[in-house]
Amino acid sequence: MPVFDHPEFDHHQQIVFGSDEASGLRAIIAIHDTRRGPSLGGLRIFPYASEADALTDVLRLSRGMTYKSALADLPLGGGKAVIIADPRRDKTPELLRAMGRLVDSLGGRYITAEDSGTSEADMRIIHEATDHVSGLGRRPGESGDPSPYTAHGVFCALNSAVRHGLKREHLQGLRVAVQGVGHVGEYLARQLHAAGAQLVLTDINRDALGALAEELGAETCAPEAIFDADVDVFAPCAMGAVLTPAVVDRLKASVVCGAANNQLATPAVAEQLHARGILYAPDYVANAGGVIEVEWQRRGDYARDAVMAHVERIADTLDEIFVRAIAEQTSPAVIADQLARERLDG
Ligand code: NAD
Repeated sequence: MPVFDHPEFDHHQQIVFGSDEASGLRAIIAIHDTRRGPSLGGLRIFPYASEADALTDVLRLSRGMTYKSALADLPLGGGKAVIIADPRRDKTPELLRAMGRLVDSLGGRYITAEDSGTSEADMRIIHEATDHVSGLGRRPGESGDPSPYTAHGVFCALNSAVRHGLKREHLQGLRVAVQGVGHVGEYLARQLHAAGAQLVLTDINRDALGALAEELGAETCAPEAIFDADVDVFAPCAMGAVLTPAVVDRLKASVVCGAANNQLATPAVAEQLHARGILYAPDYVANAGGVIEVEWQRRGDYARDAVMAHVERIADTLDEIFVRAIAEQTSPAVIADQLARERLDG
């Protein structure tokens, strides 16, 4: 399994493979870049089909965190951790403590957090073995869930994208397709509804979908049909790699803006979106609200208004990206990566 020659290797500073025989831990921590601060990124527990898949995921996700934190103006670098295991079957306190020891061995260069397959309760167990855990310093009344902040950031991003892509100043009557009404998608749908948008919702969990759609007067469709919905905006809020060449060919929307990580199946899809005249809000810019909230909560002078103001600056960053992308006739994804590298090098 090549590491330095891996297609997703991007001069990562450190890649740590950790194992613990007693608990069965098999984990990889990737520290991509610490020039702006310690690397922060979630811990994902997933039954990867192979070690190679786990390495690909952690390399890509850790680089994404570097770019996300740089463009969100956070004093953080990018890192990520994965455990190769089934969270429903293999997640034991012993496994989490062993992971905590591995995180601790890096002396704070990597700070862990929740991600898919891990919860706040898991972070508390990891904290028994290391201080380098975010998401535990909340005071009473503070949310333990960054999703509302992620959703608010996506909402602000969507407003920016609609201004630049559709030349519309408000969302009244705008038709938006939301793919996935989980933690983030539900908050986003509510906010869009409150702003006057008409929604088409889908989810593989039909129970949650029906109740929400009724409450918001939204249409629903089968998961596969969401790409054909006759809408102005497509908001992917489910899983990654959703924007394949075939999906982009089907989209009727003029704007893509959602919460999901790694929406582009391949980098070339950004050019395809651009060629089709679809304005794409780069995912790691749009969905940074959660990590912004996590960082405020980590630094200890948490104030909700200040957090919200910081989250709302996502729209300013996107305004800058869209203006440059339109002037240079290229994809916003290309400009976002350029801007992130400028901030890292500057
Ligand atoms: P979640 O698991 O709560 O919600 C995802 C929803 O998508 C679920 O309801 C699931 O049933 C649905 N779904 C899965 N596959 C689907 C499909 N093929 N078609 C339709 N629906 C499908 O996750 P979340 O926390 O809401 O996060 C959503 C996305 O945003 C993820 O990609 C996540 O990585 C990303 N993200 C989340 C946050 C956060 O603060 N939670 C921050 C940044 C990025």
